[in-house]
Amino acid sequence: MKVGVPKEIKNHEYRVGLTPPSVAELTAAGHEVFVETQAGSGIDFDDADYVEAGAKILGTAAEVFAAADMIVKVKEPQPQEIALLEPRHLLFTYLHLAADKPQAEGLMKSGATCIAYETVTSRTGSLPLLKPMSEVAGRMSIQVGAHYLEKEQGGRGVLLGGVPGVAPARVAILGGGVAGVNAAQMAVGQRADVTIYDISNERLAELDMFFGSQIKTAYASKSAIAAAVKNAHLVIGAVLVPGAAAPKLVTRDMLKTMKRGSVIVDIAIDQGGCFETSHATTHANPVFEVEGVIHYCVANMPGAVARTSAFALNNATLPFALKLANMGAEAAMKADPHLAAGLNVSDGKIRHQAVAEALDLPY
Ligand code: NAD
Repeated sequence: MKVGVPKEIKNHEYRVGLTPPSVAELTAAGHEVFVETQAGSGIDFDDADYVEAGAKILGTAAEVFAAADMIVKVKEPQPQEIALLEPRHLLFTYLHLAADKPQAEGLMKSGATCIAYETVTSRTGSLPLLKPMSEVAGRMSIQVGAHYLEKEQGGRGVLLGGVPGVAPARVAILGGGVAGVNAAQMAVGQRADVTIYDISNERLAELDMFFGSQIKTAYASKSAIAAAVKNAHLVIGAVLVPGAAAPKLVTRDMLKTMKRGSVIVDIAIDQGGCFETSHATTHANPVFEVEGVIHYCVANMPGAVARTSAFALNNATLPFALKLANMGAEAAMKADPHLAAGLNVSDGKIRHQAVAEALDLPY
């Protein structure tokens, strides 16, 4: 297969669809890889690194699309990229079509086969190509939370782990899934006093087994959350109801009970956020204050650690990319129903039921 990797053109996107080690795996399997010049320069992958991995460097995205049959990206294609897609192309990237009708219509018009990372499934029913980004965001949430708790940043002036003779900060994590567990691991590592709240009793039991006495768990009732928020120095919002907007677990009235200079990190902001007072922010201007509480609500947290995120994403996508390149899209999807679950668009039609329903388009 001829595989193409264009440079990402979405604002502040430094990740790249294939890292040099991933390219080396594909070329070792006999595939030709075409990489746009400087595709990885934002995270210190030079053209020379790609050449060493066996890729050919091309000058423009248009040349990459013309040379390749399979395009591997990170973010959804922008209009100028959609214009380069042809029916012979296989596009493998994040699409997030459910909230983006113009993109869906553009991809349908292109005739290309489009497989979305975010709807590929695993044997356990989880979403393996979303998981690495939740891991990154979860781990980052404690790092940014600790930063904004500092006095200079407007925070309460509290050190997460305390010191001998001074109690550690209290961290409440709402949602004990992938992001929540990764947040808890970092908070435990910093010796904070950590409690995870979830509505899944099964999940609470797993967390209890996994962390033992390092954390506390609590059922996420309204009263438990109200009490948690009142006492916590740092609250992490990490809930997910698949396919739905995040439930608003923390109201403005609850927020008013928090200590001045406390911090919330609303990881679930990409699904609307789980605090009534949240709204999405960017890395350029990540925080705002409501009722004396600092809100960090960046919708693409992994972008801040683009190099780590690119490697993490490639670890998850490479096995599927290899399968697609080795077998071709049709045979690969026939052999692997979890990869087939990633199919969103082909032959001008939406092929994913939930996406079609969200867009009110025929399926
Ligand atoms: P997950 O499915 O692994 O975990 C979600 C957890 O929330 C589950 O354990 C579930 O039982 C729990 N939950 C659901 N409703 C709840 C409620 N009412 N109260 C308490 N717990 C509840 O999801 P995840 O992969 O950890 O993702 C969490 C969120 O982080 C998602 O919204 C995801 O889109 C988001 N995310 C954001 C970024 C970012 O940059 N901001 C990056 C990655 C992921």
